[in-house]
Amino acid sequence: GVALQAADRVVDSLCPYCGVGCQVSYHVKDDQILHVEGRGGPANEGRLCVKGRYGFDYARHPQRLTVPLIRRADAPKDPRAATDPASARAQFREASWEEALALAGGTLRHLRNTHGPRALAGFGSAKGSNEEAYLFQKLVRLGFGSNNVDHCTRLCHASSVAALLEGIGSGAVSNPVMDVMQAEVVIVIGANPVVNHPVAATWIKNAVKQGTQLVVMDPRRSELCRHAAHHLAFRPDTDVALLNSLMHVIVEEGLTDTRFIAERTEGFEAFAENLRGFSPEAMAAVTGIAPETVRTVARLYAKSRGSMILWGMGVSQHVHGTDNARCLIALALMTGQIGRPGTGLHPLRGQNNVQGASDAGLIPMMYPDYHPVGDPAARAAAAALWGVAPEALDAEKGLTVVEVMRAAEAGRLKGLYVMGENPAMSDPDATHAREAMAQLDMLVVQDLFLTETACLADVVLPASAFAEKTGSFTNTDRLVQLGRRALGLPGQARQDLWILTAMAGHLGLDWRAYGATPTDCDAAAGRVFDEMRQLMPTLQGLSWARLQREGAVTYPCTDAQAPGERVVFTDHFPRPGGKALFVPAQLIPADERPDAEYPQVLITGRQLEHWHTGSMTRRSGVLDALEPDPVALLHPQDLAALGVVPGGLVTLQSRRGEVSLYARADEGTPPGAVFVAFCWFEAAINRLTNPALDPVAEIPEFKYCAVRLRAGGVA
Ligand code: SF4
Repeated sequence: GVALQAADRVVDSLCPYCGVGCQVSYHVKDDQILHVEGRGGPANEGRLCVKGRYGFDYARHPQRLTVPLIRRADAPKDPRAATDPASARAQFREASWEEALALAGGTLRHLRNTHGPRALAGFGSAKGSNEEAYLFQKLVRLGFGSNNVDHCTRLCHASSVAALLEGIGSGAVSNPVMDVMQAEVVIVIGANPVVNHPVAATWIKNAVKQGTQLVVMDPRRSELCRHAAHHLAFRPDTDVALLNSLMHVIVEEGLTDTRFIAERTEGFEAFAENLRGFSPEAMAAVTGIAPETVRTVARLYAKSRGSMILWGMGVSQHVHGTDNARCLIALALMTGQIGRPGTGLHPLRGQNNVQGASDAGLIPMMYPDYHPVGDPAARAAAAALWGVAPEALDAEKGLTVVEVMRAAEAGRLKGLYVMGENPAMSDPDATHAREAMAQLDMLVVQDLFLTETACLADVVLPASAFAEKTGSFTNTDRLVQLGRRALGLPGQARQDLWILTAMAGHLGLDWRAYGATPTDCDAAAGRVFDEMRQLMPTLQGLSWARLQREGAVTYPCTDAQAPGERVVFTDHFPRPGGKALFVPAQLIPADERPDAEYPQVLITGRQLEHWHTGSMTRRSGVLDALEPDPVALLHPQDLAALGVVPGGLVTLQSRRGEVSLYARADEGTPPGAVFVAFCWFEAAINRLTNPALDPVAEIPEFKYCAVRLRAGGVA
C-alpha cells in the first residue's frame, strides 16, 4: 500500500468547481496540497466527486504564470495560431508589476478618455469570490464609466434568470437540491447532474431509493436514467412542445391547483388559452413522445404531495431558452408545486460562484441584488455608497458577452479586461470571437495560465488560485460559504483583490482603504463583503464576522440572529402585488436546423473529469490521466454508417469551422446527433457553434447547430 504523507495543516475550505458547493478540507504540507477530504457541509455531508477529490494540483502546475507578461513588439496577435502554452509564451516578455499595471491601466484610461466609456468592457469571473465579482463590477462602472460588464452566466443560465425574474421576481432557486429527499416526484430536464453536479446526483439517487419517482426529460440518455421511472427522450429542440403538452393535460384533466392559481398568480386564463393547440396527441409528431407517456407524467407531477423540477443548460442554451424556463415556471405555478419543502424550481447553477457573481452585480443590466441600472433609485443608492454623484453612473444597460465581441469586431470596442474567463474557448463561433479580441487596442487577461484568451492579450497578469485566497462563494442553493486560504502564491502571482485595487489606482480611483496587499487579502475581503451587502437587502443579516463564525449561511438572510431561508415563496412572490406571472410560450425552431448539406445536430456540454474550458482540470494530473484526449460521442449506428471504429478519428464541420476528435460510441446520444464537451483546446468545439441568441436573455444556442461528419482527420 501507499502511505499517505502526514500534513502540516488542515484547512477547511470549498471545492472550486461546480455550483453544488461541496465543503472540503485541504491537507497541506510544505505549501502543497497532499490530498482533499469531504467535510460535513450542508450540500455534500462529506461527499465529493472526482473533481473535488483530485482536481487540486493545477495550482502547482509547471505552466502556472508567476510573473506579469507584456506582448513583444515583434509578435502580432494571431487568432488562428496554435494556443499551446510553449509557442504562445514566446510572444511575450516578462515585466514588473509596476510596468504591466501602468501599461494596462494607462492604456485603458487613455482609450476611455479618447473613445468614451463604452469603448471599454470587462468580463469578470464566476470562479472568483463574491468580493472579487463585486469589486470588478464596481471597477467597470466607476473606472471605465459604463455598464459593459458581464460574465459566463450569460452563457449558461441567463435565460433561466430572465424567466424567473419575470415570472416570480427572483432569479435564484426556490428550494435547495437536498429537498429532493422530501419530494415525491422529481423532474430533471436538460441536465446531466451525474456528470456536471455529481454530488447533487447522489442525493437524487438516494431519494429514488427511498421511493421518489424520478422523471428525466432529455434527448440524451444519461446515467441518471437508470434510476428514472420515466425517461422522455424528446427530439432535441422541442422542449416547449413537450412542456406545453404536459400542461395541456393538467388543464384538460382538471389537475390544476385552482386555489393557488387564484390567490398567488396572474395571467392564467391567457396562458391556458395558449395551451389549447398543444395536446400530447398533436405534439407527438414534434417531440417523438407517446401521448400516453405525457399524460402519465403530467398526472404524476400534478397529483403528488411534493414535486420538484431541476434543470440545466439543455433548457437554457437555446434561442427559446427563456420560453423553455417560462414553461417550467408555469408548470410549478399551475399545480401549486412551489413554496413548500420538497417542491419548487431549481436551475442547477454551473460554476462554483455563478450565483454569487450574478448577485454581486457582474451583469450589464443590474447592480448588486438585481437592482436595474436604469432605476434612478438604484443608481442613487450605488452612487451614494461609492461616493460619486448619480450622474457619474451610466443609466444605459451595458453590452452582454456576445455583444462585446460584436462591438470589438465592428471596431467600436477598443479595450477589454478579462479576469479569469476564457472566451476564446467558451464563446460561440470562437474563431470570430478570437478575431474580435485580436483587433482590440488593449486586451488585459488576469489568470493562472496562458489560456487561449491570454494568447491574444497585450498584458497578462498572474492571478491567485482558489486555494491561495480567502473569499465567499454562493452555491446553487443560495448558500454563502467561506473559502479559506490554504496555500501561498507562487513567484510573483498576486491576490486578485489586490490586482483590482491596483488597477483601480491607474483608472483614477483610490481603493487603498480596502487594505489589500499583494499576497494577503483576507481582511480586505471582509471589508469588501461588508460594503457589498449595503447594496444587498438579501444579505442584511449576514456580516463577514458571522460568515467567518458559521462558515455557511443561506440567503435571504435579513436577520442577524435567524438562519437564512432554505425555502422561499412560501406566502408571496417578490413581484408587484406578491403574485407570480404566467407567460405563454410558442414554438420557435432552432436557429440552424439540419439540412442536406449539414445533416446532423451538434450538442455541446461538459464531461465528468473536466471543467468548462479545461484550464484547471486538464492541468490536474489524475483528471487529465482519466480523460486525456478530445472525444466526440456518437450513437454506434452513426459510427458504423461513417465507417469509424471507436477510437478512430472523426471530423465535424459546421458553417463556421471544423475540428477533428476521437470517436466514442455512446448509446445515450440519439442517432443523428453528436455530443462534444467544450474543454478541449486542441479541438475547440465552439469554433463550430452558432452565435444566434435568445432575444430576451441573449444566451447563445450552444445546444443545437447543424454539422456534417466525415471519417478521419488530423488529431
Ligand atoms: Fe466539487 Fe461539484 Fe464535485 Fe462537489 S459535486 S466535489 S462541488 S465538482
